[in-house]
Amino acid sequence: MATKEQAIESSVDSTAPNADATRIAVENPATGEVIAHVPVLSPDDVAALARRGRAVQPAWKALGFEGRSRVLLRMQKWMTDHAERVIEVVMSETGKAYEDAQLADWAYGVAAFGFWAKNAEPYLADEKVSTASPFVKGRKLVLRHTPLGLIGVIGPWNYPVTNSFGDAIPALAAGNAVILKPSEITPLTSLLLLEGLHECGMPEGVMQVATGYGDTGAALIDHVDMVMFTGSTATGKRVMAQAAETLTPVSLELGGKDPMLVLADADVDRAANLAVQYSMFNAGQSCISVERVYVEEPVYDAFVAKVTEKARALRNDASTGPGTADVGAMTFSNQVEIVERHVEDAKAKGAKVLVGGHRGHAGRSGSWFEPTVLVDVDHTMACMTEETFGPTLPIMKVADAEEAVRLANDSPYGLGASVFSKDLDKGEAVARRLEAGAVCVNDALVNYLALELPMGGAKASGVGYRHGKGGITKFCQHQSILVTRFALKDEPQMYPYKKGVTKGLQKAIRFLYGRGKRS
Ligand code: NDP
Repeated sequence: MATKEQAIESSVDSTAPNADATRIAVENPATGEVIAHVPVLSPDDVAALARRGRAVQPAWKALGFEGRSRVLLRMQKWMTDHAERVIEVVMSETGKAYEDAQLADWAYGVAAFGFWAKNAEPYLADEKVSTASPFVKGRKLVLRHTPLGLIGVIGPWNYPVTNSFGDAIPALAAGNAVILKPSEITPLTSLLLLEGLHECGMPEGVMQVATGYGDTGAALIDHVDMVMFTGSTATGKRVMAQAAETLTPVSLELGGKDPMLVLADADVDRAANLAVQYSMFNAGQSCISVERVYVEEPVYDAFVAKVTEKARALRNDASTGPGTADVGAMTFSNQVEIVERHVEDAKAKGAKVLVGGHRGHAGRSGSWFEPTVLVDVDHTMACMTEETFGPTLPIMKVADAEEAVRLANDSPYGLGASVFSKDLDKGEAVARRLEAGAVCVNDALVNYLALELPMGGAKASGVGYRHGKGGITKFCQHQSILVTRFALKDEPQMYPYKKGVTKGLQKAIRFLYGRGKRS
């Protein structure tokens, strides 16, 4: 009998027309066409996947870092050999431009398989700890990291490789089994990569994909030892509340409203180019895209003129290959409503639209919103305070850097931010005042590609982070080991308590710690 997982793989069906409660119709958002169907897994199905994952995990762990790395490195090669196929599948279910799929999905995946294959062992090696406590001096103290067991990854639709399948890679490298619940909008990339992993020798059941709607994700939370979630703040709170019932740890990467600060001494050309690039990249559907810009008065006019010229020239169309379009479709049709609401709200409150401003695309079905530049905006408008997650760039004039910092921090979110100044010390000083988990100076967004650098949010933007050492230790149980090697049969401070020893001990502690001043 076929396993459920095999059933999933073999049931990607590109002919049946409609979705129902048992299957999802996956659309190409650039055309509106249904391109495949995948099954909706029930809570019982998820429980079966979890049993399977738990059954095979010990053998995967026993392979050791070297054995697991071999599979991950083969997968890195598989990704490079299948570049066009991976990019094509990502484009087909997200509607993004070829270059966006290449850089932020495919290239990220290629790098991540190699990075975690190489770094899992050094990051998770036993750590010798030394202590200042006289009570345990001389003991051997060790911190070790051992895989938690079964990890649940719940991913969004904006980057099916990067912040969905990508989070499974360090979890697997650490020796866990993983069940990934991809977004209902973009399940095909995950199924393709699963196929690739199996071709590369990943034992069946170690990595599984549970396709379905939000209920499938909710069912997963009850069966795993840790949840890595990426998505909206609202759903993230629900995930955390549900995980609290079973004291299951969570790592949450949630929404953002990333500010860009352009100081008077900035290289205005670079700032304007990057503002357009990283607000429109992936049609603005990046957790760390530039969502709002504050420009110091002396360079405001020049900045707006350059941004307007650049944004007007963008080709907003369905990509048919390298260099054919700049800004693609919007992946999630509901997102078009949100973007339109923000633009209309801004217009109603006095904002001016310099470029774009409309939903749709002449001659194409699917989900589209024009690359849009707004000015005369302020914090009474949703476009400056709520996550837009679309191809919009609202620009606000500020009197000075102080005002820019104050407005940048006037947000419930704190994921990323960027500061532009030719004075690097000043730029970094301003960066350090921003309430954000990741800040770039004279750059934006590319911090995500530095896998050594932790990436996670402050405030309502998340809990925990991905990448860096903590990006893999979070998938592990920490175990502290204390070994007493040379010891007496009995120790003086032990039972029966003796007045002389107790007083002597107090004297010793006062001698050791009581010599400081109180003022
Ligand atoms: P959600 O946060 O609702 O979805 C993220 C993932 O969680 C999806 O796989 C979803 O499944 C799943 N899910 C939904 N409900 C539950 C639940 N109760 N328990 C467990 N898993 C669940 O994001 P949306 O796709 O609805 O997007 C909403 C907003 O989130 C966007 O407008 C944008 O602002 C933000 N967002 C942020 C992202 C980021 O990178 N930080 C990425 C994407 C969106 P399903 O898709 O089947 O509903």
